[in-house]
Amino acid sequence: MTRHEPAALPAFRIGDADPECRYPIFVGTKQDRFIGHVFRWHKPWYAVPASGKLAGTEQRFTHPAPGDENPDPDDAGPARPAREQAIRWLLKAVADREADHHITPVHDGWPLPPTPVSTTLLHPRMVDTPTNRKRAAEVITSLAALCWQPIGGYPGSDNPWMVRCLLHAESAWEGPLYWSHLRGRNRQLPSTYRHKGCLPDAEVRARVPAYQA
Ligand SMILES: [Zn+2]
Repeated sequence: MTRHEPAALPAFRIGDADPECRYPIFVGTKQDRFIGHVFRWHKPWYAVPASGKLAGTEQRFTHPAPGDENPDPDDAGPARPAREQAIRWLLKAVADREADHHITPVHDGWPLPPTPVSTTLLHPRMVDTPTNRKRAAEVITSLAALCWQPIGGYPGSDNPWMVRCLLHAESAWEGPLYWSHLRGRNRQLPSTYRHKGCLPDAEVRARVPAYQA
């Protein structure tokens, strides 16, 4: 009996993240064939295949436990960092044509359509508990004092949150930020640098209520 030799993984390229912090993975001679995307939510990373039986589903990968090292270089097992596991899972699904969930690279498919904005207090991925609701309401109040408007529900402090800068009468800036950065550290106010092209320090201090307390 011959040992099954795993197919070599294809060369790949990680594209720029979209506004929701999803990273596309490309293969092919021009590195332009889309095979799926990866993203982080809290600590784990997720891989979402672009085609095949599992297209559009989320495959979850967690970081190795401390001390769980010495990874087999040919293994996409749990000793690898979660992001690498997620990418390798996609690449293996491309390389293994016999796999049930084989991924055929696609020409288009990226960028992905935006996720519909939630109109609820909590991001759809957040567990709806009284504690999370209370926390979300507090954070949204603090966000308003910093002149930011949430575009979707609260995603937790360490996940990207689409927000709108309220310091511009026209062409409002929108983008993903993290509450863990927005809130400032050690009970200090956050930096007055908000985003590229925003107002200078003195004007931010003059117009944002949080800096006048
Ligand atoms: Zn701004």
